[in-house]
This record gives sequence, structure tokens and C-alpha cells, in this order.
Amino acid sequence: MKWIGLIGGMSWESSAEYYRVINQLVRTARGGLHSAPIILASVDFAEIEAYQHNGDWEQAGSALAQIAQRLVAAGADCVVLCTNTMHKVAATITVDLPVPFIHIADATAERIVAAGITTIGLLGTRYTMEQDFYKGRLEANYGLTVLVPDEAERAVVNQVIYDELCMGNIDPTSRARYQAIMAGLVARGAQGIILGCTEITLLVGAADVAVPVFDTTHIHAEAAVAYALAAQA
Ligand code: GLU
Repeated sequence: MKWIGLIGGMSWESSAEYYRVINQLVRTARGGLHSAPIILASVDFAEIEAYQHNGDWEQAGSALAQIAQRLVAAGADCVVLCTNTMHKVAATITVDLPVPFIHIADATAERIVAAGITTIGLLGTRYTMEQDFYKGRLEANYGLTVLVPDEAERAVVNQVIYDELCMGNIDPTSRARYQAIMAGLVARGAQGIILGCTEITLLVGAADVAVPVFDTTHIHAEAAVAYALAAQA
């Protein structure tokens, strides 16, 4: 198997999920005591969140690019950035990267297209829901129509991510609010929902909405494992 390089800590609540899912998938695929060769570089999220808050994406990009290079120096055969939001700086990370970068939006979009879905709802941080690096990529590269919640709902979705999920707080009241917001997207025509933030899977899943969910944490982990296993053959 190839070594999977993870850039985690954004937040570590979701990185733990990546670690668990990747190892489970390898055990299922290989059986016995097999587990995944992983190198994890986990950041101090307070530093990255401050860059986000200040709009300092250049600094954030160069910090994460340095970490990706450290993973490569340590022997990583691919790089997996365990957050949707920070894919905003994917171009900076990949510019000098000598190994594959497994893009979370591409892995997710491929699943959506394969499911025959053309109109998709998107939940994530306000950066992911409102900016072009993610929504625009799905539309331009995959021909998807992407629906996001209205402004007040986006504020709720974003606040729950940073103030609750990234702090390890899973609140049933917030689950109900997410369920209502997802139902609203379905009423507007969404044929599926992207859980487009790697912590959202900790709060809601397939049972919380009437259409298929596309859980970016799990899809991204699966893409990493597919790479690690295929590359070995
Ligand atoms: N993990 C989240 C995401 O997938 C949000 C944390 C962050 O801002 O990186 O977007």
C-alpha cells in the first residue's frame, strides 16, 4: 500500500473520523490485521481560523503548502487535505507538490454525477457555500446546479460548524435545524445534499433527509484508500 498523507486538525474532530474511516476501509478490503499506512500532520486550527477570519488566504495557503511538503519529505505518496474550506487554497498547495493531491470536491462531484443527479444542495462553512472555489468548481467542471440555503440559514449552518461541531459539541437542537434547512433545499429541487464540511457527518446523515446525502468526509477517505490500494497493485 502507498502512504496516505493527511493534513488534519481543521478540526481534529473530523480528522479523527478520517483516521477511523480510512483504517476501517483498509481492514474491510484487506482483512485480518491490515490497517492504513498514514502520515498525519495536524495543525493548530486557531491559527488557520484566524487567517480565514482575516481573509489572509495567502498566508493560509503558504502554511498548508509547507505542511504538504513536510508530508512528502516524510514519505507520503499522496496528500489529502481534511477540510472542504481550505481547498480554497488548493492551487497554492499543489503548485510544487510532486505527489497526487486528492481533491475533495472532485471526489464528491464524481459520485454525484455517477448517481445521475444534476441539482444538488450544499451545506458547509460560509466560505464553501458562498465562494466560487467550491460551488463554482462543481458547476463549471461537472455541470451541476448547486443550491445553497438562504442567508439566514447559511449563518446558522456556519455557526453550528465553528461553535459546536469543531468543539466536539453535538446538539440535537442543531440537528433539527439542519434537518429543516435540508428539507428546504429539497423543496427547492435538490435531488441530493452535499455534507460539504468534514464535521457535518458528526451531526446528520442519510436518515435526516429524504434524498441521498454525499458525505464529503467519507467520500474523501474512500478516494484516499482507493488510491493507496490501487497504487499497490
Ligand atoms: N472542516 C470544515 C470543512 O470541511 C471546516 C473547518 C475549516 O474551516 O477548515 O470545511
